[in-house]
Amino acid sequence: MPRPALKVSIPYFVADGGVHFRMGGELTSLEETDGRVQALLELLDGTREPDRVHHDLAARFPDVTRADVDDALAALDESGLVQDATDEGGDFTADHRERWSNNLGFFETYASLSRSKYDFQRRIRDAKVGVLGVGGIGSHVFIDLVAIGFEDIRILDFDRIEVSNFNRQIIYGEPDVGRVKVEVAAERARALNSNVRVSTIQKKLTSADDVYEAVHDRDVVIAVVDRPKVHVMHWLNEGCVRAGTVLIGGGVDTQRAFHYSVVPGLSGCLECWYRSVQDNDPTSRMVQGVLDDIDREGGAFGEDTAAFNGLVAMDASLMVGEMVRFTSRVSPPLSIGRMLGLSFHDPRLEEFESWKRLPDCAVCGSTQPAESMRWLESDDLRLPF
Ligand SMILES: [Zn+2]
Repeated sequence: MPRPALKVSIPYFVADGGVHFRMGGELTSLEETDGRVQALLELLDGTREPDRVHHDLAARFPDVTRADVDDALAALDESGLVQDATDEGGDFTADHRERWSNNLGFFETYASLSRSKYDFQRRIRDAKVGVLGVGGIGSHVFIDLVAIGFEDIRILDFDRIEVSNFNRQIIYGEPDVGRVKVEVAAERARALNSNVRVSTIQKKLTSADDVYEAVHDRDVVIAVVDRPKVHVMHWLNEGCVRAGTVLIGGGVDTQRAFHYSVVPGLSGCLECWYRSVQDNDPTSRMVQGVLDDIDREGGAFGEDTAAFNGLVAMDASLMVGEMVRFTSRVSPPLSIGRMLGLSFHDPRLEEFESWKRLPDCAVCGSTQPAESMRWLESDDLRLPF
């Protein structure tokens, strides 16, 4: 049986004949008659099962039935005001409960009588994730994932640290110039959380096989590899689909930041998207052809010289948010099968593109979803597949 407890993170106050809970700047109000609502709330301190709550409340208000208590608890649960205190996070050390205390306060706001706040942090702790590219966006993403509590992280990058990185790659410093990025990034991560397990791959991706090798045992990866611009997207897509690994991708394009995600076996993959563009949009098809040619010749793209930290950090945060949704299940991911983005001068998130899964797609047509992502199939989430 659950032991219902009010949420510490959602305080309430009594005024004008009602009880008012304040969450995220909004009030949820309950009508009070003769003090029984307050008396009930005072009993919800996580030490009593519903039977005991009824017993103690009926001692003061004899007409209260057990069904009344169940109805009240269901209504409080529906409003997101109670959680179950049975799960005390005993598998976390005292140090970790302190370290993640503010995360747990945040997750508590999403908890309920059937969803423990510890479960969200637990799934983050136990997830196997990766960051492909620890440059501009990836270095922000990586250190955020460590701070949030991911403890099994693989990082991949071939590059070394240069002075021109320092306008945005803030986990590196001047003494690191010339050093290998993945090594310095792993050092920073271990300084932040000595418990984190970081595996590093110093490599330039040259094929879908390379991607598969890097992601085959990962649940979710954030990929922010920018070279070779067009081809690497195909390799990332194919490697992740083959591995059944969720791909969160994105980047900064001068004034715009964007991200998207692919859930193999559920959403359309990037090949599905390219194909629908090829079929329906002649201008984009032409642009893609030109980009392909530049890529093949090893050429650079002018827009890649522009990267402003305000936008880079925002993009990283959006992708980290998706990583947390995919792994913790705290709320459904937003970018599945669509590209979301914003611009620096108007940072309101909007949909730039969306695409459907093509049943005959050569890359993802016969793919089954990974067990860890089956929860996304729930009808309650109303996701587009
Ligand atoms: Zn596909």
